[in-house]
Amino acid sequence: MKVLKFGGTSVGTVESLRNVKAIVEAIEPPVIVTVSALGGLTDNLIATARMAADGDEGYRERMEAISSRHFHVISEIVAEEKRPELISNVSKMLSDLKRNYDGVFLLRNLSTQTLDNIVSFGERLSSMIVAAMIENSSLHDSLKFIKTESWFSKNIADQKLTASLIENEFHGLEDRAIVPGFISTDKKTGRITNLGRGGSDFTAALIAAATGADSLEIWTDVDGFMTADPRIIGEATVVPHMTFIESMELCLYGAKVIYPPTIYPVFHKNIPIRILNTFNPTAPGTLITESVEQDDMPIKGISAIKGASLFSISGFKANEGKKIKSRAINSMARNGVTAFLVAQAEGECVFSFVVADAEKTTACTTLETEFAPELLARDNFRIMTEDNLAIMAIVGEKIKSNPRLGARIRNTLLRDGITVKAYSEGGSRTTISIVMPIDKTDRALRLTHGILF
Ligand code: ADP
Ligand code: ASP
Ligand code: MG
Repeated sequence: MKVLKFGGTSVGTVESLRNVKAIVEAIEPPVIVTVSALGGLTDNLIATARMAADGDEGYRERMEAISSRHFHVISEIVAEEKRPELISNVSKMLSDLKRNYDGVFLLRNLSTQTLDNIVSFGERLSSMIVAAMIENSSLHDSLKFIKTESWFSKNIADQKLTASLIENEFHGLEDRAIVPGFISTDKKTGRITNLGRGGSDFTAALIAAATGADSLEIWTDVDGFMTADPRIIGEATVVPHMTFIESMELCLYGAKVIYPPTIYPVFHKNIPIRILNTFNPTAPGTLITESVEQDDMPIKGISAIKGASLFSISGFKANEGKKIKSRAINSMARNGVTAFLVAQAEGECVFSFVVADAEKTTACTTLETEFAPELLARDNFRIMTEDNLAIMAIVGEKIKSNPRLGARIRNTLLRDGITVKAYSEGGSRTTISIVMPIDKTDRALRLTHGILF
């Protein structure tokens, strides 16, 4: 059995939904199909909630537009005999959404819980519509089987519990199951949560892993995983094959094509992923598997996280280096912060790493707490940060066999006047990462792409 996931653009318009219908109905059941909210809707739901919280009455007009958009799609793609029941269910859901907005407007308050509730309507609505559109299908409620637990300020999937609930839900499936992506519930309180922006990919991966699917297909709006973000690099080309590790590294370093946590559960079960284009379904796409193929490209791609800070800890003795490094890294991990590009030159008394902007505040408080004794007792012990940076990553399992590549890229950037703030070939040697000023990122990506592809 296959698990398919269609992203926002794939379910964004009447035309794209027709493609989805043709693709899914060409597959013999059983099959599981995860869908995102209609393209752009999640952003819209959030913006509308903020308007209501700010007391801006314009939220009502936006709510009207959200309703009309869904009814328009229904009138175009759902068979006439199925429309009355669907319209009645969708109307109820939209009234519920409106009540949420009215509450936010009245109280001028938007709690995380209310916002989680509001954004969940996107996938709840799209999945109802897609289920009515697809022949021989049934709607399955992911709020019942995707369970999260809170972890610091985030909600993360309880993968074990979720896996057993999914197994139950889809055991003996005979038709085409339609599942809303992204949304979940807290395992203790039952309140609505989600898997994070872009999380529908992760829903599909959790389902693929728990049901032991033959493959996970991520249907999106490009022909596959490309050598770089095609919006920045017009010459980017599709990569026919990459490994789980390569795709994980590229996505961790900002390639938006797959939500990073998606890869772990399927990697663990060795379930291949295919990236395919809803708008060009016959294109071969990208296959992601465990092993490196004989004729694989040595470098698979480049990506960047725009918006990062460089942290440097200094003022310790050379023999303390290892301990300082492990305390810094462990304290960050305990607080859910990812430290990129961990670099410490042998014998040097400075330890540096990079943190994405979203996690900077947590990183600062974590380090100040962890090193409070040193900061108090030693005059020269310092934790410094430099902002407005970006990390560019160059990824490929065969990078190891090209030891001069990093230096070549670095020299090209330097010659172009781009300051390299930090540089690392990483522990895995699958990735070279380079830190630079944020305003130079696109230029650096173009230059690097020009050298590599
Ligand atoms: P979906 O709505 O289907 O989940 P996303 O917008 O999340 O789609 O992801 C697909 C987009 O990711 C593409 O339209 C493309 O602009 C962007 N992207 C960024 N980096 C890459 C890359 N290396 N290869 C392909 N697409 C990329
Ligand atoms: N609709 C959600 C988002 O826009 C989840 C997803 O599309 O994967 O983030
Ligand atoms: Mg996505």
